[in-house]
Amino acid sequence: MRNEIVTYARSLFERGFVVGSAGNISVKLEDGSFLATPTGSSFGNLAEKDISHFDQNGVLLDGKEPTKEIFLHLACYEVHPTIQAVVHLHSTYSTLLSSLEGLDDGMPIKSFTPYFLMKIGGVGVLPYRKPGNRRLADDVREKRDYSTLLMANHGLIVCRVSLKEAVEAAEEFEETAKLWYLGQRLPIRYLNEEEIQELRSR
Ligand code: ZN
Repeated sequence: MRNEIVTYARSLFERGFVVGSAGNISVKLEDGSFLATPTGSSFGNLAEKDISHFDQNGVLLDGKEPTKEIFLHLACYEVHPTIQAVVHLHSTYSTLLSSLEGLDDGMPIKSFTPYFLMKIGGVGVLPYRKPGNRRLADDVREKRDYSTLLMANHGLIVCRVSLKEAVEAAEEFEETAKLWYLGQRLPIRYLNEEEIQELRSR
């Protein structure tokens, strides 16, 4: 699993989904302990031995200290008992979208591709907080209906049953946010209510 985290992180870095030391990944293991990317680390050059391994009580078992945003991940595992991975990115277009005024909670992007609805579905919008503010964990708890969250002026959180699904959903979100931005001045044909319901009732 450490190898999987390193490989996905590098892939995200190399394709420009993360820059600098922004973004973090965590995985819940079968014994209930967690792996997470270490604090201050870059997705581009993670070492397996540095991946943080800690137990349910936060006691470090191996590797470096986890990301400072780990409390967000732990709130996600608390409200979604079946998930096994959380990916948090400050990717360009998702962060731009998160910085808009008046985002619709549940559906911040008006639907225009079926894949977004199929892979992402509803998106909870969290209020702006200074990074590190522990109230963000309560915000996650309040949006327990959503496994994808947009943090105002900050970025994206994706909770899924596997790391693969979490990474793929994060990529789908970022690419859709990019399309949304590129299409701002185009006469987009949005999906109608019937088409949206058809996708939701798969
Ligand atoms: Zn962040």
